[in-house]
Amino acid sequence: MSTHVPRGTLLARTRCSPYSDPTVMPQEILPHTQPHSTSSRARVLAIVNQKGGVGKTTTAINLSAALALEGLHVLLIDCDPQANSTGGLGFRRERHGEEQRASIYDVLLGSTSLAEAAVATEVDNLTLVPGSKNLIGANIELVEVAGREFRLRQAVESERNEYDYIFFDCPPALDLLTLNTLVAAQGLLVPLQAEYFALEGISELMSTLDRVAQAFNPELGLEGVVLTMYDDRTNLSQQVTANIKEFFGEKLFRTTIPRNVRLAEAPSHGLPVALYDPRSKGAQAYQDLATELLKRNSSLRSRKRAK
Ligand code: ATP
Ligand code: MG
Repeated sequence: MSTHVPRGTLLARTRCSPYSDPTVMPQEILPHTQPHSTSSRARVLAIVNQKGGVGKTTTAINLSAALALEGLHVLLIDCDPQANSTGGLGFRRERHGEEQRASIYDVLLGSTSLAEAAVATEVDNLTLVPGSKNLIGANIELVEVAGREFRLRQAVESERNEYDYIFFDCPPALDLLTLNTLVAAQGLLVPLQAEYFALEGISELMSTLDRVAQAFNPELGLEGVVLTMYDDRTNLSQQVTANIKEFFGEKLFRTTIPRNVRLAEAPSHGLPVALYDPRSKGAQAYQDLATELLKRNSSLRSRKRAK
C-alpha cells in the first residue's frame, strides 16, 4: 500500500498538521492519544469511504438497526452535513428559521454533550445523534480550536460504557470531520461497490488510516470492507471482486449487500429496512453482516483475553 498522501487531503489541509511538524501538536491533546480505556464497552467504528454514494449511510442505518434488533445497545452518530442517516431514521430535515435541534455540530463545538444531543429512534436499543447542515461550517470553525482532531473522541469517551457499538456515518470527504471520526474510532468499516473504479482512492484512505494511527490513535485499524449494491451475475463484478479480495484478504466481509430496491425505499419511510420490509433480501443481508461482525469481534475479544 502506498504511503503517499496526495495534496488536498485532510492531512494537507489541516493547518499545524503533525504530519508536517510533530512538535506543533498542542500539549493538551497529547494525553488523549492513550488507547481507549479497557473498562469501556462500546466498539467504535467509522463507516468511511471518501467516494460518494457507495452505501455508507445505508450501511450505517441498517447495520446499526440489525445489531440493535439483536438486543445490542447501538449509538449512530451522523457526522455528515447531508444528514442522511438522520433523515433515513425518520427525523425531519431542519427547516430554515426553525429552532434547531441539538446535533453533533453542537457537540463538536462544545455547546452540548453527546448525551444531551442523543435521541431515541423507532428501533429499540438504537439511539441517534443527529447530523446537521451546520457541519459544513464545523470544518472551518474547528481549525482554530486547540485539539480540534480530538473533539469527537472526547465527546464519545464518556458514553462508551452506555453502548455496545458506536458508529459514525462519515461524509464523502477526507476532511476534519472524518479525521475526528478516525481519531475517535477503533476501526474503519469501508463500504465498497464492486465496480471498475472501486479501488480508486482506497490507497489514499489506507495511507490516511496509517498516518492517523501513527500520529493520533495507535488503536485504529481496518475493521473490514463490505461490498455493497452487489450483483455477482456480471463478469466485471466477479473480476473486480477477485481484485478486491486479493487486496484486502480476510478483511473483506464474506457477506455482500445485494442491490435491493427495498434498501433504497426504506429511508423515504424513515425506517431501516428491517422494519420497512424484514423479509427483503436487503434486510437479510444486513442481518448477516451484523452476525459476521459480531463473530469477528467475539474472536477478537477472546484473542485479546487469551494474550
Ligand atoms: P454519500 O457519500 O453521499 O454520503 P453514501 O456512501 O452514504 O453516499 P448511500 O446514501 O448509502 O451512500 O447510498 C447511495 C444511494 O444508493 C442511495 O440512494 C441509496 O438508497 C442507494 N443504495 C445504497 N445501497 C443500496 C443497495 N444495496 N441497493 C439499492 N440501493 C442502494
Ligand atoms: Mg451518506
